[in-house]
Amino acid sequence: MHTTTIIGLEVHVQLQTKTKVFCGCTTAFNPTQPNVQTCPVCLGLPGSLPVLNREAFTLAVKTAMALNCAISPYTKWDRKQYYYPDLPKGYQISQYDLPFSEDGFVELEPLETEEGTGETRRIGIIRAHLEEDAGKNTHDDSGRKADSQVDLNRAGTPLVEIVSQPDLRSPSEARRYLEELKLLLTYLGVSDCNMQEGSLRCDANVNLHIHTDDGHKIPTPIVEVKNLNSFRNVELAIEYEEKRQLEQWKKTGQKIGDVAKETRGFDAARGVTFAQRGKEEASDYRYFPDPDLVPVIVSEEFLEGIRSSLCEFPADRRKRLAAAYQLSTYDASVIVGQGLEFAEYYEEVAKLCGDGKQASNWVTQDVLREMNERNQTIAQFPLRAAVLGNLLGRITSKQITIKSAREVFATLLSETHARQVLSSHQIDQIIAEKGLALVTDTGAIEQAIADVVAKNPKIVADFKGGKQGAIGPLVGQVMKAVKGADPAVVRNLIAEKINSM
Ligand SMILES: [Zn+2]
Repeated sequence: MHTTTIIGLEVHVQLQTKTKVFCGCTTAFNPTQPNVQTCPVCLGLPGSLPVLNREAFTLAVKTAMALNCAISPYTKWDRKQYYYPDLPKGYQISQYDLPFSEDGFVELEPLETEEGTGETRRIGIIRAHLEEDAGKNTHDDSGRKADSQVDLNRAGTPLVEIVSQPDLRSPSEARRYLEELKLLLTYLGVSDCNMQEGSLRCDANVNLHIHTDDGHKIPTPIVEVKNLNSFRNVELAIEYEEKRQLEQWKKTGQKIGDVAKETRGFDAARGVTFAQRGKEEASDYRYFPDPDLVPVIVSEEFLEGIRSSLCEFPADRRKRLAAAYQLSTYDASVIVGQGLEFAEYYEEVAKLCGDGKQASNWVTQDVLREMNERNQTIAQFPLRAAVLGNLLGRITSKQITIKSAREVFATLLSETHARQVLSSHQIDQIIAEKGLALVTDTGAIEQAIADVVAKNPKIVADFKGGKQGAIGPLVGQVMKAVKGADPAVVRNLIAEKINSM
């Protein structure tokens, strides 16, 4: 017997508009001042009328295009009716049978494993639709039975719901899909995807296909785990469901269709999912077209305008960086995966120093490490691309060694105070002060080599006896005597000298 895990994800993404989707209230995240960003429309007062925010619709279409979805020429708004304190109208404006987009996909890069390179995974997108967010209920968890409270600042914020096909096959693949989706949406600038602030939320539909030894395939009942608020929790909740559903099947023999679809929550502290209410069917929501909103006719000119404004997608950028700068797929993924600004930073450094590989090594190791230690984003990092490009250009043109460049890099950063911007002029100063300029005066190097060779007859004898590695210490001594010499040059000159003796 073996099992296959079947996962489909529903992702809610808050769009980065200035104002809400059907009124003019601001969408700023403002948890300390509840209910100040509201008006008659988003409070659901009688007689108020919603008006579609064009910017929200534009960002939603942008999102769907990046997901390779077909955009409908005609789309409409429906009321999804349910009562909840954070939903003052008693219904949510959403899209039911005519979403603005459907039938797309997201591609996941092949994984490099010990068995070799995997294949590109294409995860289908059933649909992406636009809707309004509800408010937020806060409950007193202290056990002192204080009142629950409602904050409607968030009510009416535009959300795109992205529903995937059940194409994901493992908890880690679900995580990779979410990471790729987040990267794509942040590159597009349609959402900040900040999970702490609830800008990206995820529900996971999970079940197992149990393949028995006698060749039968038994699907277990589908469970929806709601409101997963971190990628790690998505992975953990699915891992837990894999074990739980197999146990449950062994105990009860229940398969899909035997019981109603179940909604579960995830308790991150205990690492378990738990049963919630029974899942509503679409008919429970009594959807009907919103009579206050006109349907949207999407023109080809409107679509063309958006299409021409789209940026290069992360997947395309990875391919282009790998080809243009001779990078490995892995390095290109690390650079692109850090976000748009980081990728732009890398490209500027690579162009300035003329060595894409060298730039990649520095940016993915030295710069990333320093950024993490300082808890800074690339935009806050004091060493701008122009300065790092200048520094690395001196390696390419053999003015300094890589080792010296590291010393300059560290010195530059140690001299910075908060928010101070560093200049290339400081590089010259540090190189001069520390005597790091590569010595091309071969006379000085040859003199140092002659001294060192004369003082180390044992090493010279070992080298002559065939121990190539023996001259390492001699290289070190010469480098000490002549600061800024190129170690590769010194090594060759020492070997020449000894061989000629
Ligand atoms: Zn409002």
